[in-house]
Amino acid sequence: MSKSFAVVGHPIEHSRSPELHHAFAQKTGLDIDYQKRLAPLDGFASNIKSFFASGGCGLNVTVPFKEQAFELCDVLTERAKIAKAVNTLWMENGLLHGDNTDGQGLVNAIQSLGWSLKNSKILILGAGGATRGVIYPLVQAGATHISIANRTIERAQQLVNDLKAHVTQAELSVLPLNDLNGDFNIIINATSASLSGEALCLPKTVHFEYAYEMAYGKVSSFLQQAEQRQVPTSDGFGMLVGQAIEAFYIWNGVKPELSDFLTLAPSH
Ligand code: NDP
Repeated sequence: MSKSFAVVGHPIEHSRSPELHHAFAQKTGLDIDYQKRLAPLDGFASNIKSFFASGGCGLNVTVPFKEQAFELCDVLTERAKIAKAVNTLWMENGLLHGDNTDGQGLVNAIQSLGWSLKNSKILILGAGGATRGVIYPLVQAGATHISIANRTIERAQQLVNDLKAHVTQAELSVLPLNDLNGDFNIIINATSASLSGEALCLPKTVHFEYAYEMAYGKVSSFLQQAEQRQVPTSDGFGMLVGQAIEAFYIWNGVKPELSDFLTLAPSH
């Protein structure tokens, strides 16, 4: 009988996870069933409980339940503890385990582009859940300076205060989003402005060699501005595939190759 997995969220219809996990299973010769689960906004805990009670092996968690998933876990990985958010769940010895694979997904995607993270100086726009999840993995991969710019600057300051103790190998700092300046190796757009179609301004006072947009599926104003500067750019589809590969590996002990699945990217 095939092992049963799912992604749970609200909404969930847009999720590409079933397609990706079935593609990984086909490539690695595993027999899995991976479905989408719509949980009511006030019914996440009972939804995942019934999934595991009926023999489910693993769950991915997406918007808006990653923080709730973190709260419900009995056992957490180090990176999930630091992110305070969980996107991958499984049961082991009757205990609910949680991990956060988003950050490693981003690191793998950036490295597969050939952009070096060793001793890198990175500017991240946005201070939401995605930024929180990627800082520790970026530092583990070699980033030595990370500046966080956010529309609500207090939120960026809070994030830096929370994470400082965990990333002592790197310098974390805060920049106002409306006064970007400095020289960076990589700029990462982790705001959700691209989803709503709102424009971000990259002024001439900020310089960068590579630009990564976490959103995927359309060309954002961030990507357009970076492309005008003729620097290498990428949207977030590689990160999406990267986090899915890490979850697949946790559950099945087999790691598919990122480059085999980038062709599944949606066209712009
Ligand atoms: P959150 O809702 O937690 O955070 C949103 C962030 O965007 C906040 O910092 C917010 O600033 C900022 N923001 C929203 N609108 C604007 C705007 N108009 N101008 C400037 N800043 C704005 O979202 P997440 O952190 O979960 O996700 C962020 C992005 O990353 C999304 O595009 C999401 O799709 C993408 N993502 C991609 C993944 C992938 O696998 N490729 C994985 C995870 C996320 P403020 O604090 O001021 O409100």
